[in-house]
Amino acid sequence: MRVGLTYRLSDLASTARPLAVRFAALSLSATLAITLAAAPLASAFGADGESEQSAEAPGSVQESSEAVAPSDAPDSDASDDVASSEAASASSPQSEAGSKEASSAEEKKRKEKEEAAAKKHAEADALFAQIDSLNSSYSSAQADKEAAEREREDAIVARDEAKERLKGEIEQLKKIQAELSDFAVLMYKQGGMPPYLDAVLGSTSYGELLTSWNAMTIIGNRGLELASEKRKIQLKIQKELDDREKSVVEAGRKAALAEIKCKQIVATQLALAVQAWNTKAEAHDILGETSEAENARNEANSAKEALDRAIAEGLGGENVQSGNGVFAYPCPGSIISSGFGYRDFDHAVHKGIDMAAPEGTPYYAADSGVVTAVTNGGGDNGGAGNWIVIDHGNGVVTKYMHSLITFVAVGEHVERGQNIGLVGSTGNSTGPHLHFQVEVYGAAVDPSAFL
Ligand SMILES: [Zn+2]
Repeated sequence: MRVGLTYRLSDLASTARPLAVRFAALSLSATLAITLAAAPLASAFGADGESEQSAEAPGSVQESSEAVAPSDAPDSDASDDVASSEAASASSPQSEAGSKEASSAEEKKRKEKEEAAAKKHAEADALFAQIDSLNSSYSSAQADKEAAEREREDAIVARDEAKERLKGEIEQLKKIQAELSDFAVLMYKQGGMPPYLDAVLGSTSYGELLTSWNAMTIIGNRGLELASEKRKIQLKIQKELDDREKSVVEAGRKAALAEIKCKQIVATQLALAVQAWNTKAEAHDILGETSEAENARNEANSAKEALDRAIAEGLGGENVQSGNGVFAYPCPGSIISSGFGYRDFDHAVHKGIDMAAPEGTPYYAADSGVVTAVTNGGGDNGGAGNWIVIDHGNGVVTKYMHSLITFVAVGEHVERGQNIGLVGSTGNSTGPHLHFQVEVYGAAVDPSAFL
């Protein structure tokens, strides 16, 4: 057992390092990076050696792919994920002496506590493992970002080169213009200026040019040639420069999106760290380890502060319009893990649709509206966890539950398809999913009718 715990400890210490590096990259305060670095992590785990039952605790509550979220609004009790402490069965038959009985009961109670604490530690460790596993996602997002930045630099060079190269064409254009003027002067001297000559020479499109076609019989073939060549060069210059400019803008957009992706991954890790450290604190509370519990809460608070800052800096990604229903599909790529209506397994009416997706998957506003409620930073919230409520007018409201993080504020106007949060498993939930609920004048209706 000790070996396992030692392994976990070193594992976590190594987890903290890449996080710290990343905070620096995000220009979060150096203090935070230090706070969340390996040393305090390790110290907060000092008391773990007492958890003798850790191997028996379930690996992770996050592993269940079946998303259960029967609650519609934050009003139901959500102790779904919490271990029943009845697990420790009465194993020692006691009867004789009262003192022996008392000590046996005490022993039983102690064992129960240890088991409950071990389960909490295991939950926290699963969260830390998730944080760790996100490091590779971060690396690839970072690589995407760097590639897009290089692409943009190349596009800028190519555009500037094109401008330089087209200098010749621009010169040529000037010459043609000059010749055209000479030609016009010549024509004027020879037979007088036809009234439509101006229109032909000033033509900015083939359409205009053709309209003036008749005039060309007077001006002659040379005039037509010059005017047409002028137009051709103009088109070439415009086309090439426009395409180059588009490449620059597109590469810039890709780089910006990759940057947001990086930030969202770090925010995901921070949100998981808040949960993990709070769970650690609960484990220490169970065993009365007050200073360890306090250390863990401090870590949770540091992570929460960093998360709040990251949210304030802006984490919303690209707007995405998915599906072809009345509403935009809020979580593209997700799997419906539980539909609307009565469910046999929990004998309850499920007031929304559960869309299972990996933790940190972005989700989007189903339609434009005004945010009327939002929570963040963990907390059960009556089972809803971190949630968003959007009022779309005409009595229609949508709700988004169990978020890992939400990006909006009460009173904020959101657009249809706006990235408003990331999928999580907060509140009454057994795995990461978005519980999407639609209400019409306060009554929950089947969201699928809108999607
Ligand atoms: Zn649900």
